[in-house]
Amino acid sequence: MKFAIFGDIHANLEAFQSVIADSEEQGCSNYVCLGDIVGYAANPSECLEIVRAMNCPVVRGNHDEGAASTSLLEELNPLAQRALLWTREQLNEDQRQWLRELRLVRQVRDFTVVHATLDSPGSWGYVTNRFDAMASFSYQFTQVCFYGHTHVPRVFEKDDTVRGARGELVELQRGVKYFVNVGSVGQPRDGDWRASYAIYDVQTQTICIRRVEYDIQTAQKKILAAGLPPLLAERLSLGK
Ligand code: ZN
Repeated sequence: MKFAIFGDIHANLEAFQSVIADSEEQGCSNYVCLGDIVGYAANPSECLEIVRAMNCPVVRGNHDEGAASTSLLEELNPLAQRALLWTREQLNEDQRQWLRELRLVRQVRDFTVVHATLDSPGSWGYVTNRFDAMASFSYQFTQVCFYGHTHVPRVFEKDDTVRGARGELVELQRGVKYFVNVGSVGQPRDGDWRASYAIYDVQTQTICIRRVEYDIQTAQKKILAAGLPPLLAERLSLGK
C-alpha cells in the first residue's frame, strides 16, 4: 500500500493535477492532504473540490482557516492577505464550511499528519530547525508524522538526539522517529520550482520525496488574469 501525502497546494491546479498523475503512475492507492488547499494561486474552488472528492484524510492549514473565516487576517503578510481576500470570494459557503470543519491533527493508520507543528498546531509556528522539531517531537506518539507549512521538504530524525536531513529517500529504522516535511505542491520555496509531495510505502517502510514538473506558464497566466499580485506568479518560476 502506497500513500501519496501532499499539501500546500495553494490553488495551483496545474501543479496539483501533475502530482495526482505522478502518484497514480507510482501506484499510490491512498491520499492524505496536509492543508493549505487554497490561497495564492487562481483555482481555489477547483482544488478544494478535487480534494473533497478524494474523500481522504485532510487537516486544516492557516490559509484554509483564513479563507473560511471573516477575520481581518492581520497576522498574515500583505501578499497572503490580498490573495485570501480574493479567495474568499471564489468559495461558496458550503466550501468555506467544509474548510472550517477540518481538524488540525489526525492519525492515519500508523502515522500522524498536521499542517504546521504538533506542539501548538493552531498557532501556525514554523518548524525550520532541529529545536523547533524537538518541540514537535514531544507531542508525536507515532513513529512518523508528516507536515508542511514551510514549503521546504525536510526530514527530521529523533533517537537520542534530533537531526535534520535532506534526503529524498528515507528508510525507516526501528527506534527512530521521523518528522517529515513533504514540501509544497503549488508554491515550493526551496529554489526548485517543481511540485513536491511524498510517497509513503507501507510494505517497504520507505518514504520518498517526489518532484514533479507541471504547466507553470498556465498557472502563472491565470494568476495574472485573476488580478492577483504579479509577484505570486513570478515566484513560482523561482521556487521561492
Ligand atoms: Zn502554505
